[in-house]
Amino acid sequence: MQSIQFQSGIVNYYYNASVKELDAIVASKRIVIVTDSHLYNLYGPFLAQYDTIVIEAGEGNKNEQSSSYIISKLIDYEADRNTILIGFGGGVVTDITGYVASIYMRGIACGYIPTTLLGMVDAALGGKTGINWGLFKNMVGTFKQPQFLLFDYTLLNTLPSAEWSNGFGEVIKYASILDTSLFTELETHNLIDYQQDIDLLKNLVIKCAQHKNDIVLKDEHEQNIRKWLNFGHTAGHAMEQTYELPHGAAVGLGMVVASKLSESLLGLSPDVTLRLRNLLAQYQLPTQQQVDVDLIWNQLVMDKKRKSNTIQYILLENIGSAVIYPIEIQTLKQLLPLCMP
Ligand code: NAD
Repeated sequence: MQSIQFQSGIVNYYYNASVKELDAIVASKRIVIVTDSHLYNLYGPFLAQYDTIVIEAGEGNKNEQSSSYIISKLIDYEADRNTILIGFGGGVVTDITGYVASIYMRGIACGYIPTTLLGMVDAALGGKTGINWGLFKNMVGTFKQPQFLLFDYTLLNTLPSAEWSNGFGEVIKYASILDTSLFTELETHNLIDYQQDIDLLKNLVIKCAQHKNDIVLKDEHEQNIRKWLNFGHTAGHAMEQTYELPHGAAVGLGMVVASKLSESLLGLSPDVTLRLRNLLAQYQLPTQQQVDVDLIWNQLVMDKKRKSNTIQYILLENIGSAVIYPIEIQTLKQLLPLCMP
């Protein structure tokens, strides 16, 4: 187990664990679990040991209605401040669990058992919680660190292949902005290698988690370098919401947009964009998408990284090297149609 002290609390990382260890990890608190309908069907016998709140699966349910439902069920269960709310699921479940845990009774403890690759390498880490508001992604949320993260890689045995690919969207992001050797490692392997070799997978998850933790430790409230982690997310979120794309797939497309913007604004070699596209394709992620630029634009101008008339875009200087680059809204509006994937 590794413990990390963040500004807002200590998080314990159980990188080699089994869900069977949950009671021992939680010790004296009362457990209530939040999960989604797919996971409840798959892991019913494990979940039946606990008070469990089930929301409908899918990004469309990461919203106010599901939050209200979870709060009502917590009241039914007479959950109090000695309760720990545990998110057992992908990023949808952990984001909403953390959000509800930070507002129920002005804040109760939470812990996460990520069940998707995307959750293990990204969504469950770093202490950002959130729900969507209408079309606007993660518009409402808080910063709250979970008390623990339990990584049980056997949970990924039931994960559909498309969801593995989504997870690789975020893995490729870390490689692109921070880690050239990871980029090369990914180029030499493929999805099946990581699905079949648990040690390779474990090392990958731990490497990504450590990249994220290193950044969050330096900038927990996203004043500076944590913004790098938004590489691919500006246009990505807009495409995700407009076309109901899976998060990792949308981030992959958003990275292509950001890489093309980097060609225009920083003189990045088109070879980098090509390597990025090839890597996305190698992990069965889309590299092209028909888009209505006006619809994307309407979403993009609401981006949380907007500061009056600029958007703080994350661009690439090269593979493994990101920069925060303020782009004027008018310039971005002109460039965007030329940089669509
Ligand atoms: P998800 O939670 O919707 O899970 C994807 C699908 O896989 C769902 O249908 C789910 O039911 C199913 N599933 C999950 N685990 C499974 C398993 N073990 N076996 C079979 N099916 C399983 O999506 P996700 O890709 O995990 O997460 C995306 C969400 O994460 C987005 O809402 C995104 O905004 C959020 N996110 C948050 C952060 C953060 O820092 N808080 C970072 C990245 C992404």
